[in-house]
Amino acid sequence: QLDLAERTARLLGANVREVTVHAVDGVDLSIRKGEVMGLVGESGCGKSTLGRMVAGLDAPSAGQIRFRGKDVSTLKGAEAREAALKVQMVFQDPMSALNPRLRVDQIVGEAPRVHGLAGRGEIDSYVEAALQRVGLDPAMRKRYPHQFSGGQRARIGIARALAVQPDFIVCDESVAALDVSIQAQILNLFMDLREELDLTYLFISHDLGVVEHISDRIAIMYLGRMVEQGPSEEIFATPNHPYTQALLAEIPTFATTKKTYSAIKGEIPSPIDPPPGCHFHPRCPHAFERCRVERPALKAIAPGRVSACHLNDVS
Ligand code: SF4
Ligand code: MG
Repeated sequence: QLDLAERTARLLGANVREVTVHAVDGVDLSIRKGEVMGLVGESGCGKSTLGRMVAGLDAPSAGQIRFRGKDVSTLKGAEAREAALKVQMVFQDPMSALNPRLRVDQIVGEAPRVHGLAGRGEIDSYVEAALQRVGLDPAMRKRYPHQFSGGQRARIGIARALAVQPDFIVCDESVAALDVSIQAQILNLFMDLREELDLTYLFISHDLGVVEHISDRIAIMYLGRMVEQGPSEEIFATPNHPYTQALLAEIPTFATTKKTYSAIKGEIPSPIDPPPGCHFHPRCPHAFERCRVERPALKAIAPGRVSACHLNDVS
């Protein structure tokens, strides 16, 4: 269990001494080298918290984040630095993620300079290469973020992450702020970079439709708990968990199955006082008595697939 009480409670404006929030509770997620793992859920489900912990920006108060098989909290010196650099994050909303007072060459060149990856005379060519890689004209490197379009700013954010030569990138709603046509361009860029640079991604989105085409596997979270995980095609073809089914029902173009699922009803409850039993029961069209009292465990339902729903016990 990862108790992120204080941070989450502050975000929610609550008295930190009085509440304990398990923002991410019993989440077990392994991502294989070279794969794209989509992490999906409504806002407030804990997926950003999980992403920040994976990227080393927040520490779990319990549990472990392992990178290349090692608990990152136990790493020291060069090994700790290496792990920190090899996992980078690309944030939501590039406008607020980029310092408006810095030029693009300063934004992209900062980490390589600070970490000594490029010497003084090499930073310029380093930055130029990073910009070229994301499809930006290096001649624009002396400009400021506000002089770029939303799609270009997204590219700058990606160039900044790539500048330290990561293996693993956590994308947190990285295309959410963009128009649909620009979203597609940036998703294509992510996929091209994966091929070229042999990258692994954790791709976080509230929108199952966004992660569909880029994810090898998809993990679905609800109120801090993992509810379903499996290969992307299988999740779309035969969604098991009622919450996953509800998310699919919200995708306008969803037509991979003849089944129709009912859309999700009601608001997401507060993570401070989540419903007992299955957190999803107040919104679930299939809830029965057991759901109100007993937490469903994440169980294997097929090779490589897990789901946490009592319906899987009923036959
Ligand atoms: Fe719905 Fe019950 Fe399954 Fe939860 S455990 S998703 S409430 S049927
Ligand atoms: Mg978020």
